Amino acid sequence: MRAVLDHVGIAVKDLAEALAFYRDALGLEIEAPEDVASQRVRAHFLPVGEAKLELLEATAPDSPIARYTDKRGPGLHHITLRVDDIGAALAQLKARGARLIDEQPRPGAEHSLVAFVHPSSAHGVLVELKEDRRTHGSAPTQHVALGSAESVGADPRVGPQPAPSPNLAVRRFTIGDLELISLSDGVIRLDGGAMFGTVPKVFWEKAMKADARNRVTLAMRPLIVRGARTMLIDAGLGGKESAKFHDIYGVDRARSLDVTIAEAGLTREDIDIVLASHLHFDHAGGFTYRDAGGRVRPAFPRAQYIIRRGEWEDAQHTHERNRASYLADNYLPLAEAGVLQLVDDDATIMPGVKVRRTGGHCQHHQIALIESKGKTAAFVADLIPTTAHVPNAWIMGFDLYPMDTLAAKKQFVKEAIEKETLVFFEHDPAVAAGYIREENGKRSVQPAS
Ligand SMILES: [Zn+2]
Ligand SMILES: [Zn+2]
Repeated sequence: MRAVLDHVGIAVKDLAEALAFYRDALGLEIEAPEDVASQRVRAHFLPVGEAKLELLEATAPDSPIARYTDKRGPGLHHITLRVDDIGAALAQLKARGARLIDEQPRPGAEHSLVAFVHPSSAHGVLVELKEDRRTHGSAPTQHVALGSAESVGADPRVGPQPAPSPNLAVRRFTIGDLELISLSDGVIRLDGGAMFGTVPKVFWEKAMKADARNRVTLAMRPLIVRGARTMLIDAGLGGKESAKFHDIYGVDRARSLDVTIAEAGLTREDIDIVLASHLHFDHAGGFTYRDAGGRVRPAFPRAQYIIRRGEWEDAQHTHERNRASYLADNYLPLAEAGVLQLVDDDATIMPGVKVRRTGGHCQHHQIALIESKGKTAAFVADLIPTTAHVPNAWIMGFDLYPMDTLAAKKQFVKEAIEKETLVFFEHDPAVAAGYIREENGKRSVQPAS
């Protein structure tokens, strides 16, 4: 086994003091912090040659890092060794009687697989093993068995994590010859008023509770369609954003696309086509990732990315009203990498899947209509982001052309009721998919079982 020091984790109690030493006195450079909201930890990396120091800062008094420093004071927390084949490394350790915290590797940050070895086997040091899947080039061939749903996210650095929300569980559906797999990239919080436009809060807060900052919790649920090819529709926020961004938008990516794609038994290399409903950051952020050298690259190494030409153009010519939603790193690197395919009109993207422009939310917003053997499904993205948006008048304040949303929604809902369409609600925190019903003019959604 060849192991290389990747980083050394240091639990800090007072970040300012720690930075006064590591950054100011030692003169090390510091990278943008990474927030792990679910674990109430913020990680600050300082490159030191080939390896890094990782300052671990608690973001809440009940954070496991706070508990650690309360008990033992600040100090060395763990070391991380990078190995070529984490599965083989674990097997070797196990054969020699080492006590493993993770018997199986599980997804770590940005395309890595990680597993922890118990300090009792490592002379009092918590050792993390890490396989950086990008060190093998852009298309690693190795496929390591991933841990079960229970082991995913059980990071011993920060104590037991809450069980994955059942609402963000991976769900599988069959439509004729196609398999549909609903995934998650975690949750994001957006202003409740903006989510419901002209609907008064007294109504919308019955559908969705707001937090102290008036934000409602929204899921990000990319969808996989497996048929002649394997297609991913939208990819959530991804992992490139700063701690400040995560704070403003209440991001929690414990149930990230990496985690859920692995639970679905797939890898990023399995995706042939990535389809964009539109290029807002909560849909297109996961299209790219930032590699160890800081370069932004396509996150699905084999995929062609299909984007509507009008949306592509609008994303490069933003204005005051939509600028905050378009982050160039999410899509420009696709063109540079030569994996971009622009479509002009409503078209069939793969057998059984076609796109339809709805406009409304943005001028070239599109939905995916799925059909096989007389059965239908639809991925409606921000046309009907949650089940609460099924009534005609419940239209987001974010929408640039709300009257177009209204017209497109009326047409779609009528068809969906007639055809018994299985509708995927990309932002609904509880219901991944369901059937729209209408009785005496009153609409409801029957969640799909
Ligand atoms: Zn949007
Ligand atoms: Zn959205």
